[in-house]
Amino acid sequence: MMESWLAQHKNSITDPHQLAEHFAVHAGELAQVAQRYPLRLTTYLLKRITQPSDPLGQQFIPQLAELNNDVAQLVDPLNEELLSPVPHLVHRYPQRVLLLVAGSCFSYCRFCTRKRKVGCEDMAVSFGDILKGIDYIADHPEVNEVILSGGDPLTMSDRLLEDILKRLQRIAHVEVVRIGSRAPVVLPARITPALCEMFGRYQPLYFLTHFNHPAELTVEAIEACRQLVNAGVPVVNQTVLLRGVNDDATLLHKLFYSLHRLRIRPYYLHQMDLTCGTGHFRTRLEDGITIMDQLRGPLSGLAVPTYIVDLPGGHGKVPVTPDYVQRLGAQAQLRAADGTLIDYPQW
Ligand code: SF4
Repeated sequence: MMESWLAQHKNSITDPHQLAEHFAVHAGELAQVAQRYPLRLTTYLLKRITQPSDPLGQQFIPQLAELNNDVAQLVDPLNEELLSPVPHLVHRYPQRVLLLVAGSCFSYCRFCTRKRKVGCEDMAVSFGDILKGIDYIADHPEVNEVILSGGDPLTMSDRLLEDILKRLQRIAHVEVVRIGSRAPVVLPARITPALCEMFGRYQPLYFLTHFNHPAELTVEAIEACRQLVNAGVPVVNQTVLLRGVNDDATLLHKLFYSLHRLRIRPYYLHQMDLTCGTGHFRTRLEDGITIMDQLRGPLSGLAVPTYIVDLPGGHGKVPVTPDYVQRLGAQAQLRAADGTLIDYPQW
């Protein structure tokens, strides 16, 4: 019998020595990295990683390169801490807030923007914190959309999630809720019929997931997304462009078209944020622009995501198109929504 999602979550790999039993990795080196940036991956993923250099291995197995110092990288590249009027709530755009309801994830992506704190003590979120965040939202009538994120909100029980959704539903000016979760990729068993049925009762609710590579579209992952869509929950996807993992037009064509066929809308292709400990994953803007040019013709417009940069310093997201980006030698400048030109270190 298949283990419940909770049992699978509890049995996740968190000790580098466990990884060394499966792959040719140096447990001591991995432990050094994991001390700074925690390690966790589900046994579901473990079974699908053939070696640390494959697309899943690179995303979830720690690498010494995470400890490299790179002057262009920032601990909090999107300035989230300064944009948090109450703990675990980020208010960057007037109409939308990000409510970080969970401090941990089922598996830690090595390229995570919030790797400064996900899975760490700093990120422990109490229910009291969540209630303060909801009070803040209730006091701000300009907020009409709430994005539940973390960490992964689906690490919470259905009961707690529903409690949060119920409280948000009672706030008249909150019209749309989104839930960001990588569960379909890392622990598809978490997407149960009961969860989908509950989400179906809190419409309009968007499920924002995160597939980066066609290898993640397993039978189980496809079934998880099918259940969500069939329950009336729109599923949209964000992909991060990762050097050596998915920076290839043919591969991304396959990913985006497969998602499109599964009724999952490819929403954003993210340029990697300038996050400390992730420089080895970052592609150049020029590479992303070339990939997008190659995708646009052959791929149905509905399947083409917007290629974006989340500007360093919390200036918001901009699409990477000629109107927003200009080349300055080896560097680039990006135009923020207010017209300000922001320096970007890599063209
Ligand atoms: S699931 Fe999301 S929040 Fe969690 S480690 Fe991955 S990218 Fe970061």
